[in-house]
Amino acid sequence: MKPLAPLHPDPLPAFTSPDFLGVEGLLSAEELALRDDVRAWVEARLMPRISELYFAGEFPADIVPDLGRLGLLGPTTPVEYGGPGRSSVMYGLIMQELERCDSGVRSFASVQSSLVMYPIRAFGSEAQKRHWLPQMARGEVIGCFGLTEPEHGSNPAGMITDATEADGGWLLHGRKKWLSNGPSADVAVVWAKTNGSDDPRSIRGFLVPTDLPGVTVHRIDDKHSLRVSESSAMSFDQVRLPADAILPESGGVKSPLMCLNQARYGIVWGTLGAAMACFDEALQYARQRIMFDKPIAATQLQQERLADMITKVTNGQLLALQLGRLKDGPGASAAQISLAKRHNVDMACEVAREARRLLGANGILGGWHSMRHMANLESVYTYEGTHDMHTLIIGQALTGEAAFR
Ligand SMILES: Cc1cc2nc3c(=O)[nH]c(=O)nc-3n(C[C@H](O)[C@H](O)[C@H](O)COP(=O)(O)OP(=O)(O)OC[C@H]3O[C@@H](n4cnc5c(N)ncnc54)[C@H](O)[C@@H]3O)c2cc1C
Repeated sequence: MKPLAPLHPDPLPAFTSPDFLGVEGLLSAEELALRDDVRAWVEARLMPRISELYFAGEFPADIVPDLGRLGLLGPTTPVEYGGPGRSSVMYGLIMQELERCDSGVRSFASVQSSLVMYPIRAFGSEAQKRHWLPQMARGEVIGCFGLTEPEHGSNPAGMITDATEADGGWLLHGRKKWLSNGPSADVAVVWAKTNGSDDPRSIRGFLVPTDLPGVTVHRIDDKHSLRVSESSAMSFDQVRLPADAILPESGGVKSPLMCLNQARYGIVWGTLGAAMACFDEALQYARQRIMFDKPIAATQLQQERLADMITKVTNGQLLALQLGRLKDGPGASAAQISLAKRHNVDMACEVAREARRLLGANGILGGWHSMRHMANLESVYTYEGTHDMHTLIIGQALTGEAAFR
């Protein structure tokens, strides 16, 4: 008698599909070696438990020392400030491999690297850089970024959180929402409108230790998406800050937007990783799933689905790499980064959805990854500038007309 198939089949073993257009041939040996090291670490330390962590809504805090040891936190931070001084393409490949596992894991590293360490590097004093960056690169200090407010998301310039100069320091008052890493963070980079004696009213960044009196962290747990990433709101009730809490070189809404551009760049690569993982799962499943006496991979409909998916992934690969090479060379403009963020997030959302559909009913189960990616990518579609905002940024670059209002 033919043995019965298991009722609840185990997910398929890790599988990586070939690089269809040979884009990896454009990477250096050093870049490929880093990519492979991160991939191997992710496969060993995270993949076996990622579904469980997702259902539990838990960030795997035990990986943070490893992230530091492997140089994955603030990878572009210069050696003199405790970082490995890697290129933007290498940073991108790290994000790709982390998000191949889960967008929430990539978000942790993105926030620490691009939204906390970057502003300290770009706008901080020498003392701030020497104090914070080495500890953050090692993962001993965790940071978060407070720009969004409950009533000010896509338009951060409208923020109402303010910092008033008082007694040789600052009094910070207001509320921020959606701070990734917030519940575990030791310090928050908070953006506020200043009321200073010498300072024209401007938007400035402040380094705010989260254990200061007047700081309250409100955990956000009821998420359908990005469940492995910790999120919070934070309120600041007349929080007294020393004079040196301000990031001295920050000024105007362009400062936080410069941070967002760094993070958006990482998202371009990260979402590519998520899309690759979904494609790999779909291709492998299609080959082994027998229906009507043949693998579903042998049907024209599923081949069309797979062909569409790999075309999207390949476009995403080329786009990410060209953007990275620009960043490491002449520089990438905000609109170029917007174009790539907008494309690759949308691309990954579509690839994840199609992979989920190809998997049939098994595709909604926890051991399979495409639906988790699909749910995660909905957050990525919204954060770091919604898809719509990037459309408007590209539209403005093309036409010279701002259509935000
Ligand atoms: C999981 C998660 C993590 C996050 N992490 C952080 C973080 O660490 N730090 C932080 O500061 N923020 C964070 N955010 C916040 C995120 O950046 C904002 O949610 C985002 O900027 C959008 O703001 P909003 O949600 O208020 O949407 P809104 O601005 O209210 O937009 C609602 C809708 O209206 C559209 N819209 C808005 N304005 C226009 C317009 N002019 N024309 C056409 N359409 C428009 C938008 O595209 C969107 O579809 C996070 C969000 C999520 C979901």
